[in-house]
Amino acid sequence: MTQAFDLIVLGGGSGGLAVAERAVQYGQRVAIVEPSKLGGTCVNLGCVPKKIMWFAANLAEDVRHARASGVQADLDGVEWATLVAGRDRVIAGINGYWDQYAIDLGVTRINGYGQLSAPGVVQVNNEQYRAAHVVITTGSRPIVPPVPGAELGITSDGFFALKQQPMNVAIVGAGYIGIELAGVLQALGSKVTMVALENRVLETFDPLISDTLTHNLEHAGVQLHLPFAVSALERRSDGLAVLSKDGQVLTGFDTIIWAIGRTPNTRELNLASVGIELERNGVIPTDLFQNTTVAGLYAIGDVTGRAPLTPVAIAAGRRLADRLFNQQPERRLDYDNIPTVVFAHPPVGSVGMTEAAARAKWPNEVRIYQTQFEPLRYALRGNGPRTAMKLVCVGANEKIVGIHLVGDGVDEMLQGFAVAVKMGATKADFDNTVAIHPVSAEELVTLKTAE
Ligand SMILES: Cc1cc2nc3c(=O)[nH]c(=O)nc-3n(C[C@H](O)[C@H](O)[C@H](O)COP(=O)(O)OP(=O)(O)OC[C@H]3O[C@@H](n4cnc5c(N)ncnc54)[C@H](O)[C@@H]3O)c2cc1C
Repeated sequence: MTQAFDLIVLGGGSGGLAVAERAVQYGQRVAIVEPSKLGGTCVNLGCVPKKIMWFAANLAEDVRHARASGVQADLDGVEWATLVAGRDRVIAGINGYWDQYAIDLGVTRINGYGQLSAPGVVQVNNEQYRAAHVVITTGSRPIVPPVPGAELGITSDGFFALKQQPMNVAIVGAGYIGIELAGVLQALGSKVTMVALENRVLETFDPLISDTLTHNLEHAGVQLHLPFAVSALERRSDGLAVLSKDGQVLTGFDTIIWAIGRTPNTRELNLASVGIELERNGVIPTDLFQNTTVAGLYAIGDVTGRAPLTPVAIAAGRRLADRLFNQQPERRLDYDNIPTVVFAHPPVGSVGMTEAAARAKWPNEVRIYQTQFEPLRYALRGNGPRTAMKLVCVGANEKIVGIHLVGDGVDEMLQGFAVAVKMGATKADFDNTVAIHPVSAEELVTLKTAE
């Protein structure tokens, strides 16, 4: 007999766990289909392991410069195995938390890959399960391009599986994952080369961020080769090589990491059989309420191709459960002004529109306030990385529609400023806020010079 639920969730990652938890709280019978550990990409192969390694990298960087402050410490190498073991213990702890929590919630776990066999019918390991509501939240996986020798490279998944520190690494891709892995490896003492198709790193971000980050990467010793269209990878006598379409060859690497983007885990879901046509890049088309084109079938998180971030998947999942199971018919996630951080060294933070996007929308009404400075933190060691900040303001009342930051602490700083942007803050509101001194954030409420 087919087992029946109120809700079946395909994928036990950020979005899946969020929608399942909230649906249970509204009294629904819920099943989660998941072939792997609970927690998804963020816990197992993304945010969490990355951030732990970022903390370690910051520590290494601080120790390197400790003597300038009179602190008698020397960086005596990095024990990769210790770092990885500690990191994996943290992940196992989170997996264990979710395993127990799913039991406590009374969620049914179905181990395996799910696919749709009819509207409201999910098939896993030749068993069929039914539900009035099915949510697809199967996430995404790294892209490996179809070039000769591609298999000589690893992806971010392979990076987290490394048992030894790679010492001479090429990273292909200058999006946020490439930038984050480059920063971690460089700070931990690896030699890092970065190649990418684009003319600048983090191409979708405001140019102030790209330019400052480029300076900081080069200042840290990362070799940037942009633009560079990879045509093949090869194994040569001196190590692995990256070749470009226009004849450039970079060689001598022990590791090459593909960080060229991610593709949704959707093609295996048999969605055509229920009448869903995927977009060319595998994204599931959804409306603002996470509805697909089939009644009772919804999609959230990375599979929707919108702002692929953990809190976005969680927020969309919770709101969907509110709408479906708690009589809140208008409840949905507003995708505007989602803050995002790139854990570079120092980090990058951004919320709202870039200067170019704002000028395209309001050609004569944009006013920019920006600054670059060296924070007090680097006063004793000197020659620190650059810090930069930009406010994009619009209209006579200078409503703030974009904030773009690079510098120590901006990862923590941005959350509060994102609240202000979401509330519609103006430059005058920022000016009326008394600064905290001495911190880098005070610059944001004391910016005087308009461009
Ligand atoms: C290296 C890296 C660093 C990142 N850092 C950050 C960060 O700092 N901050 C941030 O906000 N985001 C970060 N992200 C992005 C974040 O991890 C994702 O946006 C988030 O996990 C998406 O959640 P999701 O629920 O859509 O998918 P996921 O969390 O990926 O969950 C999908 C789940 O579905 C399962 N699944 C796949 N196919 C099937 C199937 N057929 N049936 C059932 N289950 C299936 C998978 O096993 C997986 O567990 C990072 C990602 C990476 C790769």
